[in-house]
Amino acid sequence: MLSIRDLSKTYANGVEALKGVSLEIPNGMFGLLGPNGAGKSTLMRTIATLQDPDTGSIRLGDLDVLADKPAARRQLGYLPQEFGVYPKVSAEAMLDHFAMLKGVTQRGERRDLVAALLKQVNLHDVRKRKLGTFSGGMRQRFGIAQALIGAPKLVIVDEPTAGLDPEERQRFLNLLAEIGEQVVVILSTHIVEDVTELCQRMAIIAQGQVRLTGEPRETIRALEGRVWRRAVDKTALPHYREKMNVLSTRLVAGHTVIHVLADAKPEDGFTSVPPDLEDVYFGQLRHAAATAKAA
Ligand code: ADP
Repeated sequence: MLSIRDLSKTYANGVEALKGVSLEIPNGMFGLLGPNGAGKSTLMRTIATLQDPDTGSIRLGDLDVLADKPAARRQLGYLPQEFGVYPKVSAEAMLDHFAMLKGVTQRGERRDLVAALLKQVNLHDVRKRKLGTFSGGMRQRFGIAQALIGAPKLVIVDEPTAGLDPEERQRFLNLLAEIGEQVVVILSTHIVEDVTELCQRMAIIAQGQVRLTGEPRETIRALEGRVWRRAVDKTALPHYREKMNVLSTRLVAGHTVIHVLADAKPEDGFTSVPPDLEDVYFGQLRHAAATAKAA
């Protein structure tokens, strides 16, 4: 459905934000997981036709996205990382305005569309309220409503759950899941659980490169039997980091618990644990950091 080939982008300051990124993104929810600075926003903005890559191509079905941006824009909805709204305008009036800008010029049609979208994102009851009074979660749901104007085939959401409380976050993810049943949704995030809970497919991106792509469950299965845990003293951490492939350190009820990747039990005191997506993710990040250091 969405086919990204060999995208590269170096900013004027010399930062290589994308280094030959290729991805095949089918229908459904796709998670783009990576740490801050990995290149996610650069990739999202490039797909949304807001900036050009230095090289590479993007196809949405039969459409050459970079060659025909107006056509691409008609088929995509975008919720940017920083989504600004006029705080003094009501949700209903603002959405009406966005619909107008997107070419829904017929008044009755626009009224129906705005009402339907506000219902879909569960903001119809508060449609008269000023956007400035909305919570973070409400604002993000409003952002989704505007992204859905024009029935896009592709919806791009950039780090949408950062800053939401757990309940708002869950509500927002449920909404995305519903939308993902009909269209391609790309969710960029640095929060592993967003992907675990929601995405049929995912990619891990670090330092401008795709490190891994696949179904979350499959990537987890590949680590089966190779993740070991142990509670350690915090002061011993450097020792373990030096000696073993430490995936992560977590604070569990006041104890420092490390996860180590190894084909066999690293030493007495370690127990085997079922791997999860965090293990996959941290393993890839460590690998990326090690390759960068070696280069
Ligand atoms: P992410 O969304 O994963 O945090 P970004 O795409 O925002 O990553 O950034 C990737 C890298 O490119 C970072 O090192 C960032 O500082 C740099 N970068 C992003 N935008 C610009 C820009 N407009 N000019 C220069 N450097 C940029």
